[in-house]
Amino acid sequence: MNESSVSKRMTRLSPSMTFAMNALSNELKAKGIDVVNMSLGEPDFNTPAHVKAAACQAIDGDYTHYTPVPGSLSLKEAIIGKLQGENGLTYGPAEILVSNGAKQSLCNAVMALVDEGDEVIIPAPYWVSYPQMVLLAGGVPVHIDTGIDRGFKMTPEQLEEAITPRTRMLILCSPSNPSGAVYSQEELEALSETILRHEGLLVLSDEIYEHLNYVGAHASIAACKGMRERTILVNGVSKAYAMTGWRIGFLAAPKWIVSACSMLQGQYTSGPCSVSQKAAEAAWRGPQACVEQMRQAFERRRDLLVKLMREIPGLEVAVPEGAFYLFPKCSSYFGKTDGTRVIRTSTDLAMYLLEVGHVATVGGDAFGAPAYFRLSYATSEENIVEGTKRIAEALALLK
Ligand code: PMP
Ligand code: GLU
Repeated sequence: MNESSVSKRMTRLSPSMTFAMNALSNELKAKGIDVVNMSLGEPDFNTPAHVKAAACQAIDGDYTHYTPVPGSLSLKEAIIGKLQGENGLTYGPAEILVSNGAKQSLCNAVMALVDEGDEVIIPAPYWVSYPQMVLLAGGVPVHIDTGIDRGFKMTPEQLEEAITPRTRMLILCSPSNPSGAVYSQEELEALSETILRHEGLLVLSDEIYEHLNYVGAHASIAACKGMRERTILVNGVSKAYAMTGWRIGFLAAPKWIVSACSMLQGQYTSGPCSVSQKAAEAAWRGPQACVEQMRQAFERRRDLLVKLMREIPGLEVAVPEGAFYLFPKCSSYFGKTDGTRVIRTSTDLAMYLLEVGHVATVGGDAFGAPAYFRLSYATSEENIVEGTKRIAEALALLK
């Protein structure tokens, strides 16, 4: 037996390009090459001290047993408080499910709601894992293109056109990874009107970058009129509190959806790590100044990166409104060569920048936007300056 002996389900999947580029960058670093890593989207800040203290206390207090599958009641209450206070949304404990990161929350929802052959609308550029989760469930990803000229946002007309009798779900990510686009309350209201015209159409709303917003208050589609019953709201602590390794995310949704997702999780992974749950609770209940401090640092880095990237000829750079990614258009370099290789795709360009420029980025192919590439600015200003210098030098060699 060999690789081809795996299940048919596995043959539908491909590896996560974000983690793959990060691994390649680490491999080069292990060989002694100095790489500026702008591939992976994770805060370079450390978890706040009061959160770490809560985790230590949980260990010392022997809070080390299984928790209920959907998460401890006190953590769910902290999440309910967050949703009420920050989003004006009212949920009960039976409408919350805590999981191993927002990634599992998203996957739970897709697996519990999408049947073989169901269509799931995913506006492109999209986060790499959405179509993969849909394929895993046997669903059919349907993409809507939104380029730099449209501010990387889908219009209600585009959405209406993409809906068919087989459409089960729309996956919305605002602020967006990878484009940084942020939908306003008005834009979400307009999309909601279209959604509500179609019975049985659900929205999986990924709000993991809620706090990394540089244009104003966060808007959730769940708060739009009539949408609470249609929305699975996903969020977590990874990005806002620099807690990627703790693996805590949640979904908030009508009870029937939470019950189904909870049953799935109960057979699959059980409740998430007890110690991490205590840490997440401290993050949501504790002082919030750290979130704003990190947001301001990301905003400064964004401004620096936009300024430096706009100086490079041949790139089209939109100002991201949220998250911590820049998504420049780079297709003017396609067909060019440094004398040894021809750049045909954004993945070729990312590989070239890694191997020749020693800067790790991710090609837009993985995000359903082949004319672009992604840089994460969740890294120091020093790295941003050095990384963009290297990108400029490497691109200047392409003729
Ligand atoms: N959604 C998006 C858009 C993301 O970028 C990420 C980052 N990995 C996630 C979800 C998953 O976050 P978590 O670390 O909580 O699983
Ligand atoms: N969300 C981050 C990124 O897009 C982490 C990697 C991942 O989960 O795919 O880079």
